[in-house]
Amino acid sequence: MEIITSIPALHEKLRNYRNQGKSIGYVATMGALHNGHIGLVKRCKEENDICVVSVFVNPTQFNDKNDLILYPRTPEKDAGLLEKANCDVVFMPSVEEMYPEPDTRKFDFGKIGSVMEGGFRPGHFNGVAQIVSKFFMAIEPDKAYFGEKDFQQIAIVRDMVRQLGLNVRIISCPITREKDGLAMSSRNARLSAEEREKAPLIAEYLSKSCTFVNEKSIQDTIDFVVKGLSAYPVFRLDYFEIVDGITLQAVTDWKDSDYIVGCIAVYCGSVRLIDNITYKRNAD
Ligand code: AMP
Repeated sequence: MEIITSIPALHEKLRNYRNQGKSIGYVATMGALHNGHIGLVKRCKEENDICVVSVFVNPTQFNDKNDLILYPRTPEKDAGLLEKANCDVVFMPSVEEMYPEPDTRKFDFGKIGSVMEGGFRPGHFNGVAQIVSKFFMAIEPDKAYFGEKDFQQIAIVRDMVRQLGLNVRIISCPITREKDGLAMSSRNARLSAEEREKAPLIAEYLSKSCTFVNEKSIQDTIDFVVKGLSAYPVFRLDYFEIVDGITLQAVTDWKDSDYIVGCIAVYCGSVRLIDNITYKRNAD
């Protein structure tokens, strides 16, 4: 495994692989790696000759400065985990390498960009699109792997690829969870012992609400999750929405779509966690 920090060195390395006819898969991360990330890396390695992983805490996607400062950073440990997962190239650039000058590009994702995370984290998806497009252009992967934990992000990245006419296949991968159901996240490391104990309730309420599909109304389902979690003072809800899995617009009836997902963002103490559950998926 090679650790590369500059874009020219990355180009050089990947040009050699491409000249040898090797396919290139890519996983974007912000580091502080856990098994959720490693699952993506393993799948990437299975489906491509070469697996490239970027580790970069992207400042332009943080709407909350404090969140950027507190974001966990464990580069040495990350390199060890990636080596073990058979990653071929780790790209760990500096902020100056990725942003030699400010990126002033403004993306418009229409309705998929204005709901949920788009509403609660202004500028977040613009920052995601800026950095992911830079990585796609630097790496030119055949396939790129993203986790369904960031459900809306996948729709945004797909739309960004369409808008820019990039030639990369976006592969979505299921959420990896802790044994107690909590969706794995780098931010979980910031939970206190008491918060960590309560955090699995988020996944538990989502999972229990599956029994409501076609039996109770969408509004009853929302009320069940919102009221259930609100009973615990440790939680402060940003949103829980039940949406069409493609358009990300709220549905009001289970018959409204063949693909329905419930997406939640909730503070557990001072740590903002997101999770989601697929209620219905008859599409494809
Ligand atoms: P991050 O480092 O949080 O930006 O995440 C990098 C990639 O890993 C994104 O595509 C995430 O959706 C994915 N990811 C993070 N946590 C999980 C998880 N628990 N299960 C599956 N994928 C995940």
